[in-house]
Amino acid sequence: MSQDRVRVGWGYDSHRFVKGRRLVLGGVVIPHRVGLQGHSDADAVIHAVIDALLGAAAYGDIGTLFPDSDPAYREADSQRLLKDVVRRIQPRFQIGNVDVTVITQEPKLGPYKSRMRVRLSRLLSVPLKDVSVKAKTNEGMGFIGRGQGLAAVAVAVLSRKKRKGR
Ligand code: MG
Repeated sequence: MSQDRVRVGWGYDSHRFVKGRRLVLGGVVIPHRVGLQGHSDADAVIHAVIDALLGAAAYGDIGTLFPDSDPAYREADSQRLLKDVVRRIQPRFQIGNVDVTVITQEPKLGPYKSRMRVRLSRLLSVPLKDVSVKAKTNEGMGFIGRGQGLAAVAVAVLSRKKRKGR
């Protein structure tokens, strides 16, 4: 990856915990007494990754591409949205690596991190070594500490593909 073609993007997402919804993170269903509220499946990990990729490409943001006012994205599987974004960036960019941190008081995500990583690497079409998923609590502070919701942050590195003839 030559230095002048490297681009970095950052993504953040948060969702509120509610009863009666599944908890889906990084495309993996995680057993928990509450799930995440949202128009789509509320997969905050994938949403943060999408915004990191879009940011690195300067292609806008998830809310513009997939507006929650559009019934097409109601209960949408965020994995499908991520695949769509990967398709959009692929002609111009190659994905270098993606690093995600999930911040939640509960549940403990240790047992699910490797599955999220595998799922993300498949969706992104990159080797497992280029995907990282980390998890931490918020030490009991703020909305996350009170268990009102969770947040995910992600960074993505892209490299601009060489155009033919240059
Ligand atoms: Mg979201």
